[in-house]
Amino acid sequence: MRPSLTTTAIGLCWLIAVTGVAFTTANGERKERDALNARFSDRASASAASVAAYVQDVFERETRMAISLPRRVSDEDLDDKRMGAGFATSVLLDSQGGVLASSPPGPTVHGDDLAGLDPHIFEALSGQPAVSGVVASTVGPIVEFALPLDDDGSRVLASGFVLADSPLSTFLSVPPNAGARGYIVDELGHALVFAGAGATADMEGTASERARDEPVIIGDRLMVSAPIEQTSWRLVYTAPESAVVAAATADLWFEWTVIAVAAGLILCALLVIRWVNAARQRSQAAQMQAEQRFRLTVDNAPIGMLLVALDGRILRANSRFCAMLRYDSDQLLQMTVRDITHPDDLAEANRVLGELVAGELSYYEGENRHVRGDGVAVWVRLSISVVRDARGKPLHFVSQSEDVTAVRAAQEQLEQRALYDGLTGLPNRGLLIDRLTHALADHRREDAMLAVAFCDLDHFKRVNDSLGHHAGDLVLQEVARRLQEVVRESDTVARIGGDEFVILLPRVTSIETATAILDRARAALDEPIEIEGDSVSMSLSSGVAIAEASCTADGVMRNADRALYAAKEGGRGRWKVYTAAMRSSAVAHLSAEKELRQAISRDEFVLHYQPIVRLSDRRTVAFEGLVRWQHPRRGLLMPADFIDDAEESRLMVELGRLVIRQACQFLSRHPDAAWRVFVNVSPAQLGCDLDGVVRSELAASGVSPTRLGVELTENAVLVSHGSSLAEMQSLRGMGIELLMDDFGTGYSALSSVLTTPITGIKLDMSFTSRLGIDEPADRISATVAGLVEDLGAHGVVEGIETDDQCQRVLRHGWVHGQGYLFARPAPEHELRLPDRDAVLL
Ligand code: C2E
Ligand code: MG
Ligand code: MG
Repeated sequence: MRPSLTTTAIGLCWLIAVTGVAFTTANGERKERDALNARFSDRASASAASVAAYVQDVFERETRMAISLPRRVSDEDLDDKRMGAGFATSVLLDSQGGVLASSPPGPTVHGDDLAGLDPHIFEALSGQPAVSGVVASTVGPIVEFALPLDDDGSRVLASGFVLADSPLSTFLSVPPNAGARGYIVDELGHALVFAGAGATADMEGTASERARDEPVIIGDRLMVSAPIEQTSWRLVYTAPESAVVAAATADLWFEWTVIAVAAGLILCALLVIRWVNAARQRSQAAQMQAEQRFRLTVDNAPIGMLLVALDGRILRANSRFCAMLRYDSDQLLQMTVRDITHPDDLAEANRVLGELVAGELSYYEGENRHVRGDGVAVWVRLSISVVRDARGKPLHFVSQSEDVTAVRAAQEQLEQRALYDGLTGLPNRGLLIDRLTHALADHRREDAMLAVAFCDLDHFKRVNDSLGHHAGDLVLQEVARRLQEVVRESDTVARIGGDEFVILLPRVTSIETATAILDRARAALDEPIEIEGDSVSMSLSSGVAIAEASCTADGVMRNADRALYAAKEGGRGRWKVYTAAMRSSAVAHLSAEKELRQAISRDEFVLHYQPIVRLSDRRTVAFEGLVRWQHPRRGLLMPADFIDDAEESRLMVELGRLVIRQACQFLSRHPDAAWRVFVNVSPAQLGCDLDGVVRSELAASGVSPTRLGVELTENAVLVSHGSSLAEMQSLRGMGIELLMDDFGTGYSALSSVLTTPITGIKLDMSFTSRLGIDEPADRISATVAGLVEDLGAHGVVEGIETDDQCQRVLRHGWVHGQGYLFARPAPEHELRLPDRDAVLL
């Protein structure tokens, strides 16, 4: 277990305190010893100096006394000459050591004895002054010395003086420390003089040997010594160690302050460290918590999540991802993204990752395939981004994957249903038209031929009737399969209803290539089809049309349809190529009349409206109603597809009435407006109670006649006879505008306008399209505009598609126009209606 910071702090403080005390104590002792040393050394030196001076002094005095002695001396002479205290005794000896005189009087020793005992006297007798050691005497230790008095050494003065009377005694009597002791010792360590409590000569004998100039500790005492000059003695001083230490310790405030401050600083430092540590621990805890939360969030996210290293290694996978790919997390951590990416998506994945790292892509979103642990591909909606550090350096990728396999399957199913025939799996009519439209666009750009073949199974109805619908379905499936086998991959075989198939050949080099395919299709059906024990033989009739540059998808289909009818007409099981001549005959065979009647009764005709605008500001001033057939099988058909048939079938009157009715109903839905709607009227309608029809439809819808206009083709006006003229006048009389349509295409002279109740003309778009291209068109346009103005009639230019055309006809003097430049014909709900204040035609 790691010790806590508090424990560490207490431990450290304790350590500091102990070390501090130890250090301080040791330092105190050292200081004391140093002080003692200094004091002892000083005192010892001073004392030694004064003892030396004292000895010298005595010696000099003795010398002076000896010199002043008479040749013959007596004890009294010696007494006289003695000066001051301190002398124990003085003896004058002859050359043999015999005593000549002494002070105090009465020799106490014989010269022989003295000479024999004391080497210093012997030395003096041979002419050398000498000092003896210390000699015990009744007055205490004395120092003896001997002086030769005469040059011949016949007399020697020997004296002694009492050491106790020396200045040392005074010094020693006032010891600097309690328990201090002082000694003068000779060279053998014998104490000559000692002072202080407990000082004895014996005790210091050995101690003095160890006493040197440096203090030493002996037992519990400190000791120091110093030599006394001019002698062989030393002064020794000792004191108890405790007295010294106690004194020094009292003087340790500085050390204690240092220790206290150090301990305080350390405590503060420890507190700061503790605070910093606590803060760091808190932030680490918060970070761990955040990481934990993040991990939990990632792990429990309802979407697959992956952390991937920049080199593609998988660093982390959440449980959703593992479940989705059917791998353990551990397995995934041994893999790279390449291992789980579908081989077909690898190149794309590498590109995306590269662009993400380079910063060319901020994030990626797309649908890709992962490969599951069991090898099955899963479609995922994938988003990837790069995680970067604060300096923008890429660290790793993070990705989210959502399994969209089921969604895609559903989408594909829906698409399949919308675009493909449920029975045969072939493209349906919608998809065929789409592909045909694209192919036509390509066809205009390229130079290849595009062919469409309409195919129909001969007498298929019989299969249904005799073998039942199920058998019929199986036959259709088999036919579909065989047809697909004979075409190229780029071709399309579609089923557009019942037993009708269409083959789209977007790139054929010649019509023969197309018919060769149809031959192959026929041959493919020669082989009987086995259906649940029955054998069915089918034959195929086809019509093929080659698309021309201006063809629409409907147009090509229609032509192919017509060729098919032509083929059927010529007998079953054959093909025919569309020719222009087929058109009318095909129409006849289409039972056009029947179909048109049905369309009228089923109300399949609708009006689209195209605005007529004032050229100067392009504001709508009226609408032209244009009829369309909402064919249940062929889609929206244009007038060119059925008007002629309607004319031939003498259905134009009936169709015309529907048109007038729808226009009136449209107007009635805008009762407050004043703009007009022009309807096209066929010549067949003129002379067939046109005015009566108009009147009754206006009345039925409650619309004012002034809101209706009628467009008659130039030829209709031209061939108008008496009754039609009367109807035109009647219409005019009601306040209905009459415009002559497609002016310039017929044979009428402008003068005819004068003889009919026509109120205006519409210049045919064949002039408009040539404006600026050939000069006569511009001239005619300008001339007609002038005439229209002269006649005070309305003038409308048809088919304006470009700005240039618009500018030109404006310059020519035309006031109104119509064309794709302004708006295409559109159903009522898509129209932009004029403002209330619009200028009207
Ligand atoms: P129209 O009366 O001359 O009608 C103008 C035709 O030109 C319309 O064709 C219109 O869509 C087209 N058009 C308009 N602006 C432009 C343009 O800028 N460029 C080109 N290229 N064409 C433009 P749509 O609707 O196909 O009608 C064709 C003809 O069919 C009409 O010619 C009209 O004669 C006849 N028609 C249309 N509706 C009826 C109707 O209800 N009854 C009768 N009897 N005939 C009708
Ligand atoms: Mg018209
Ligand atoms: Mg026209």
